[in-house]
Amino acid sequence: MIRWLVLFLVFAGPATAQETSLRPVARPEQQVAEPEADENTASDSAVATSLRPQPRTAAVAQAAETARVARVKGQICGDPDLQGDVLGTVAGRGACGVENAVRVKSVAGIRFPANPTMNCETAIALKIWVQRGAIPQVGGEGGGIRSIRTASDYACRNRNNQSGEKLSEHAQGRAIDIAGIKLNFGREITVLQGWGSGDDGKQLRGMWQAACGPFGTVLGPEANRYHRDHFHFDTASYRSGPYCR
Ligand SMILES: [Zn+2]
Repeated sequence: MIRWLVLFLVFAGPATAQETSLRPVARPEQQVAEPEADENTASDSAVATSLRPQPRTAAVAQAAETARVARVKGQICGDPDLQGDVLGTVAGRGACGVENAVRVKSVAGIRFPANPTMNCETAIALKIWVQRGAIPQVGGEGGGIRSIRTASDYACRNRNNQSGEKLSEHAQGRAIDIAGIKLNFGREITVLQGWGSGDDGKQLRGMWQAACGPFGTVLGPEANRYHRDHFHFDTASYRSGPYCR
């Protein structure tokens, strides 16, 4: 460039050289680069994209959030697998009454139509039994479990309803009695009819066994005549370990 400028000055003569020297000449390497043309359009486009709603993704996310909120709203004992109502302290006469009481509507997705009242410790043990005992023992038979029928929950009474006996664990919301497992296709496995029969008996024994551990006391038809038609589960704890008959 400079070589061409020198050549131009030489051939143009002194007068032209004078005029030329007054005009400031920017050297190419000092020129400020102009912003590239697509720089502005790129940022416009980025803003437009980020503001554009994405209806499908938003709807799916919203549905999931609604389901989550509903489960959290209906959960009891801090566990979404336990759905029901929080009752707090239920007062009863004498030594009767329940602390941390809840009314259980469903456990691990299985309904308890009688909405039994118990404390949270018992509700959590019940969940373990439903998941490890009831559900796997029934499997897909009869379309799987529809609901679980309870015979007794919180009740201010003595053991086995006998006047001479000690206060029952039911009287403090620590016990639940299970009478039947209703299947989706309509049939019910009952403790009364099923315990002595073939297939139902095997499943019921499996369920009885699975309760021993999560619950401190597990009684069935072989415990005594009062338990021919139901399982009694309670969360009383013994130093010697669970008591299961
Ligand atoms: Zn009982």
